[in-house]
Amino acid sequence: MLISAGENIHGYKVSEYKDIVFGFCNSSEGAGFRQVALKKMSENAEKLGANAIINFKMEIYPVSSIAQEATAYGNAVIADPIDGAVQTETPHKVNLEAYTRKPKTEESPIGQIHDINGFKFVVCPKCGTKYKVETDKNGAVHIKGFDDVDDIEPGLQVFCLRCGTKFTVPEK
Ligand SMILES: [Zn+2]
Repeated sequence: MLISAGENIHGYKVSEYKDIVFGFCNSSEGAGFRQVALKKMSENAEKLGANAIINFKMEIYPVSSIAQEATAYGNAVIADPIDGAVQTETPHKVNLEAYTRKPKTEESPIGQIHDINGFKFVVCPKCGTKYKVETDKNGAVHIKGFDDVDDIEPGLQVFCLRCGTKFTVPEK
């Protein structure tokens, strides 16, 4: 299967468009989940009788605080070698490292810090519930009994116990 992130494949001419093909894989299936998504996409293209995929893209989405899902997709096509053109560079080796960047998550709202008699409280930006904030010797903030619910977004994110809003506890 020839795979290209562009609209063309060097040395080939697209003679027939088949369909958009997808391949999904969850990171819980192992570190090679991006390759698996790519493989599934290729298999789906093969089922359509395609020999190439153009406009290939891969997206990595967080599906929970610890798991990500890779979606590989592109246009399955039939690409014929152009007579006389050099088909040296077959782009079937996709550099998956280009897709290892962390996904862009929606940024959580930031809670305001209130200092009340020397105690620091963070206020839920939606419902106003206050949570006592402790700062450890490294300057990291904690709320007793709360874990960071988002490993991807920087800083400490918690769910408000009252309204369920996920928000960021600022360091200061
Ligand atoms: Zn709340």
